[in-house]
Amino acid sequence: MDAPEYPVGSHADGLLIEGSKFDWQEVIILKKRTDDGIERFYVSYVAFNKRLDTWLTRDCLAPLHKHTTETMTPAPKTPAAKTTKSAKSLKSIKGSTKQTKQSQSTVAAADAHDDFEKIIDYIVMGAHKLKTWYASPYQDVPKGVDTLWICPICFRYHFDETSYTRHAAKCTAHHPPGDEIYRMGNLSFFEVDGRVQKQFCRNLCLCCKLFLDHKKVVVDTDLFLFYCLTETTPMGCQTVGFFSKTFDPEYRNILACILTLPQHQKKGFGKVLIDFSYALAKREGRFGGPEKPLSDLGKISFLSYWRTAILQFLYDPANNVEEVTIDDICTATQIQERDVVETLATMGICRRSRGDESKGVMVCLPHKRPKRMQRLVSQAKLHWTPLPRMTYDPADRTRLDIYAQQTRPVR
Ligand SMILES: [Zn+2]
Repeated sequence: MDAPEYPVGSHADGLLIEGSKFDWQEVIILKKRTDDGIERFYVSYVAFNKRLDTWLTRDCLAPLHKHTTETMTPAPKTPAAKTTKSAKSLKSIKGSTKQTKQSQSTVAAADAHDDFEKIIDYIVMGAHKLKTWYASPYQDVPKGVDTLWICPICFRYHFDETSYTRHAAKCTAHHPPGDEIYRMGNLSFFEVDGRVQKQFCRNLCLCCKLFLDHKKVVVDTDLFLFYCLTETTPMGCQTVGFFSKTFDPEYRNILACILTLPQHQKKGFGKVLIDFSYALAKREGRFGGPEKPLSDLGKISFLSYWRTAILQFLYDPANNVEEVTIDDICTATQIQERDVVETLATMGICRRSRGDESKGVMVCLPHKRPKRMQRLVSQAKLHWTPLPRMTYDPADRTRLDIYAQQTRPVR
């Protein structure tokens, strides 16, 4: 019998492998290639996030529904059978990306516009070996190389461990190449100018693109300022996460891209990054929110931050929640109206008063009192002055000229 064809764009059953566990799931064939006589198919799992896209060989594929219909039928389980950790984590990926269903359904079309494909499967940073989630346009990757060694300080990348070891022995970087504008304990923020530190910013973005499904991450870094959150280690200040802001004075958002590196997630760094972005915006007199659409993890982080900030305000004894308006919340928390409304909707703790069609007095319903929350970033410790171009005033066209000419003064 002839082997199935699996043309690009067709659907099939594909093995989803995580650790020692595997399962059959429906996939879309996005690309095909043959290496040394071995056929490889680049697939996207229909019901899962794009970060699981991968290359499969022919023996990991089967005609559509050959296996997936079987797995839909409850299989007999032993009494001791439990959900495995890997199955749980797969479910959490699936669950966390419901909002990106549309992007998943058009994944093939979107991918067709990519001019790069996922060839880096792992990176090694310090003591961490990480499986990558998305494609990143690293150049000149030798054939057969699927792992990069990346310097955790300067983000230079290497195609083999020997080359990285040589670099590590002579790397003179001890922190990101910019001004340290904030310090709290062993954490610092460095402001890095994308026009000045081109190589660092390019390497940072290439690395972060491996974990962000956001094509703009790797566009011209000249257009952005990067704010790197670092943790002080014996090696130096290692970047644990960052966010970027564009120079464009007409840009209303407080940040463009945000990422906590996977090895540093679930340590609260996401909230520190978000809080810092609001602190900068406050110093600038800018009132906005993150650039949309957010990545799935970005959305979770922001919703959590907004929820915390809003509850902190509502539970402040100084406020009468019966009379609080959305405007009041916006002013106190610095969160823009649409984000406040979205967050309140997800919490289900408010409704507009009858007869008030404007901002409206809202009534907050009982909600579990949050834990003691604290503002993570102190304005008093922020050693930073916004450039004139960063002070948003769309009516003032002279600022555009300043923006075009200005370079950051040396402090
Ligand atoms: Zn280095």
